[in-house]
Amino acid sequence: MPVPTLYTCSVCDFSGTSMGGWGRFEYLSEESVRYSIPRNSALCYDCEKVSPAEIFPDPKEWKRLDEKARSVDKKDDHFFLTWYIEMKVLQKLMRFRTAPPRCLVCGGHNFDLIPPGLPGLVHRGCGGVIQADRNSAPWFYYRDGERLPKHLYSLDGLEIKDSREE
Ligand SMILES: [Zn+2]
Ligand SMILES: [Zn+2]
Repeated sequence: MPVPTLYTCSVCDFSGTSMGGWGRFEYLSEESVRYSIPRNSALCYDCEKVSPAEIFPDPKEWKRLDEKARSVDKKDDHFFLTWYIEMKVLQKLMRFRTAPPRCLVCGGHNFDLIPPGLPGLVHRGCGGVIQADRNSAPWFYYRDGERLPKHLYSLDGLEIKDSREE
């Protein structure tokens, strides 16, 4: 179980945890292929929460991946190749994506990704600095055996109800 991070503002009483990004976040293509898009904790100004938000892969990254795939030994680097095939599926599907990256809670686009190590992320409008604390987040919500939430999204990043789940 990962340890959640509690984010607070140095000026106002804003707070939130990274736990919103836990669980499964899947997308459904028109052909019912399930895949995922990378995500990271963000400060969303539309829903005023710390929420998971989408990160679209950098097109330069695709090129580097193709180069690496050509150079790896197919038998030895099974892990890389499995991941590479997943990335190729994602690359194909991303061509049909029209909306910019979204907050996965409210679907809004007005957010700042929280960078690793938090180098002075400013709480817009308030002027405070966002601080991270990995020791005091309330994480008793997920006890042993409890299932993490599952989320399903359309290709355009809007949450849909999953008829396959109970
Ligand atoms: Zn603030
Ligand atoms: Zn939001």
